[in-house]
Amino acid sequence: MNAVADAPDAAEHEALLQFLYMAPVGLVQAGSDGAILMLNPLSAQLLMPLSADGNLLNLFEALAPVAPDLRQRCAGYSAPSGNVCEGMRLYLNGARGGPQVLSLTLLKLDAARLMAVLSDITEQDKRERQLRNTDAWLNAIMTNIADYALVSLDQDGRVAAWNDSIGRVTGFDEAGVRGQPFGLFYPADDASAAQQAHRLQQANLNGWHLDEGLRRRADGSQFWGSAMLSPLPGRKRDDGTLAPAAPGEPAYCLILRDITDKRALSENLRSATYGDHLTGLANRRAFFEAGELELLRRAKMPQAPVLILIDADHFKAINDSHGHPAGDAVLRHLGATLKSMFRQVDTVARIGGEEFAAILPGASLADAAIVAERLRERVQAGPAMVGDTAIAYTISIGVAAMDDPACTLAGFLQRADDALYAAKRGGRNRVVCWPAEGESQA
Ligand code: GH3
Ligand code: MG
Ligand code: MG
Repeated sequence: MNAVADAPDAAEHEALLQFLYMAPVGLVQAGSDGAILMLNPLSAQLLMPLSADGNLLNLFEALAPVAPDLRQRCAGYSAPSGNVCEGMRLYLNGARGGPQVLSLTLLKLDAARLMAVLSDITEQDKRERQLRNTDAWLNAIMTNIADYALVSLDQDGRVAAWNDSIGRVTGFDEAGVRGQPFGLFYPADDASAAQQAHRLQQANLNGWHLDEGLRRRADGSQFWGSAMLSPLPGRKRDDGTLAPAAPGEPAYCLILRDITDKRALSENLRSATYGDHLTGLANRRAFFEAGELELLRRAKMPQAPVLILIDADHFKAINDSHGHPAGDAVLRHLGATLKSMFRQVDTVARIGGEEFAAILPGASLADAAIVAERLRERVQAGPAMVGDTAIAYTISIGVAAMDDPACTLAGFLQRADDALYAAKRGGRNRVVCWPAEGESQA
């Protein structure tokens, strides 16, 4: 052993003191009776408001108002060293109204020494409480109205055991469900033997299977529900495989839930996040997310998607002569026209003031150009009626195939934009495909 390691190194000691001084947490070293031997400035600052007389002599006494049993805890901690408590929350009357929250970790270093680590977690605690409140609020909405139904199924997916809740959710009675395949809770087109077998198989493979969709009540009416299917835990063998259950014996647990309200809630959230408030189309954010998804899917598809950019012509003039609210009405009219012209699988969005975009999966550039031309004609032919005033307007369109594997979404948007500008320069009210050859094609 060398002398340096043996002797208390003054420089190291100095560094340690420096560390304690600067540490972003409060550190207190105390004797086993709580007598404070050393504390850094931050811990003094954190503990001072607790001390009745301003003397920080004993850790247990200083913390008594918020952790009265700390001394007892230490006395009861029999291991030679270790954590007496970890991340214990101490709620103080904060100076700024709300509670100040400290986190306390108390370490027993040895029979004679304790080390306390204190940190101010007021903000973290506040955020956690807000999150919990939001969670509690969502749960209240989602569970108070809806209800669970619990059934067990046998090896073949037939109802083995019955619970009253199934009646509340589905209207079936015991005689109606016992021994029946669980497909009876699904609409006819979703209830084939193969579909049921697939669900059981997925549950076997993954430990559970969850699907959301329409469910059927005894009277034939439907509701939006979730179904969670899982093999009963007792069937799991040590090697992870599932033991078969005897015929008629419970083998799976099925939880059916009416989530009509949850669905409405999440759709409202969805449309607030992804919808354009003026036209009801997708918004810019939704468009970019859909665009990136299409690019990911492109590799697996035989046909690359096509991007279409649409910009209203001389729109400033429409606002100037009819007013901004009338301009808004024209944009709604254009939005409705777009919605009526594209397919369900196409993403149609308003990505800017009077700029719209569409992504057409599985369409060739030629097909997309035909659709775009039809759209241009439709807009030209039918003015927007705003009150009694017919406002005629036109649109220019740029079309680009998303077929270049080296190109990004931004790159394709640039191509479509180049084509759109060629259409504008060519006189507006026309369709141009990228790459634009000359400026006069329509
Ligand atoms: P161009 O044919 O070159 O596209 O001419 P433009 O006037 O349409 O083009 P520009 O980009 O110069 O002007 C777009 C105008 O669209 C300006 C803006 O006042 C109007 N605008 C943008 N967003 C809205 C909106 O939400 N409502 C209304 N009413 N007008 C809008
Ligand atoms: Mg414009
Ligand atoms: Mg524009």
